[in-house]
Amino acid sequence: MISIAKPLIGDEEKQAVLEVLDSGMLAQGPRVKAFEEAFAAMCGVQYAIATSSGTTALHVALLAHGIGPGDEVITSPFTFIASANSILFTGAKPVFVDIDPATFNLDPALLEAAITPHTKAIMPVHLFGLLADMDAIQGIADKHGLVIIEDACQSHGAGLRGKRAGAFGTGTFSLYPTKNITSAEGGMITTDDGRIAENCQVIRQHGMRRRYYHDELGFNFRMTDIHAAIGLAQLQKLERFNAQRRANAQFMSAHLRGVTVPYVPEGYTHVFHQYTIRVGGGKRDALLEHLKVNGIGTGVYYPVPIHQQTYYTQALGYHQTLPEAEKAAEEVLSLPVHPALSQDDLNTIVNTINAFMEAA
Ligand SMILES: *Cc1c(COP(=O)(O)O)cnc(C)c1O
Repeated sequence: MISIAKPLIGDEEKQAVLEVLDSGMLAQGPRVKAFEEAFAAMCGVQYAIATSSGTTALHVALLAHGIGPGDEVITSPFTFIASANSILFTGAKPVFVDIDPATFNLDPALLEAAITPHTKAIMPVHLFGLLADMDAIQGIADKHGLVIIEDACQSHGAGLRGKRAGAFGTGTFSLYPTKNITSAEGGMITTDDGRIAENCQVIRQHGMRRRYYHDELGFNFRMTDIHAAIGLAQLQKLERFNAQRRANAQFMSAHLRGVTVPYVPEGYTHVFHQYTIRVGGGKRDALLEHLKVNGIGTGVYYPVPIHQQTYYTQALGYHQTLPEAEKAAEEVLSLPVHPALSQDDLNTIVNTINAFMEAA
């Protein structure tokens, strides 16, 4: 079986965890601090704040910018539910703008029409490891005085002309085991703004600026030193992992026939969290089944756009048509691209798909 995702845990991670267990400091401590510093350096920003998950990173980042009831945040409908749910957690309203079918990311041409006097922020999602069109999005955000919260949960190390995910606004990352690097569970917020960084630290820790004095509402969204030790060891391997993902993607894109392979615009560094093809003509589900029978794991990210999820339609009353997101949900298929694939695995994936598409 060739699996769709595989965390690569080595002796470095195991040793680092044992050291923490022996240290007597298990919760948030020196490893979290070291991980934050190394992560900020990787992104090219001044500050990073570790949290318990990507979801809590998004939640804290929004709160740190003062986003709450009455505010609107524009985001993509074609993403993991946490992007939009984190907006709901603050009491603000997610506003969905359709995607660019070539990149699966927010279509900046549709953004301005969605801005109202209530809009506070834009949350681009750098889906599958490719940055959203940040030149255009930044221009619109600047023009309207809006904050940018990047959902970079799938794009550790992704770049646009050398500038990295998490450096365009307030960045948020997930360290879940299927992501490009993991800490088992975990999240990270990145920023160059010292005031936002401090807000994040306070919200993460029960609204506490001075020990046991609580002037505002906060949470326990801390990361443990055990998780940070794993994350720090993984971070040393990120560039190698990403290079391998890119090489695997390049091989598949050069050899696959009859399907639409991922598009990488000029100047962008894709880190292929997912290698996502489009299969037209209603053949996606048959190909998925064929690959499964042949021992190849795949994923459909995502089968239902967020504006069509039951909670959003039934409980929140969303009734919107976003044709590109809806079409993508019917056509996308993510193939294994992780760094543990062998050349044999890649040949098997390509040959199995090409044979099916030729016959179909
Ligand atoms: C994984 C992911 C999240 C949430 O991260 P968790 O660590 O699972 O909470 C948010 N947004 C996107 C786009 C993701 O892929």
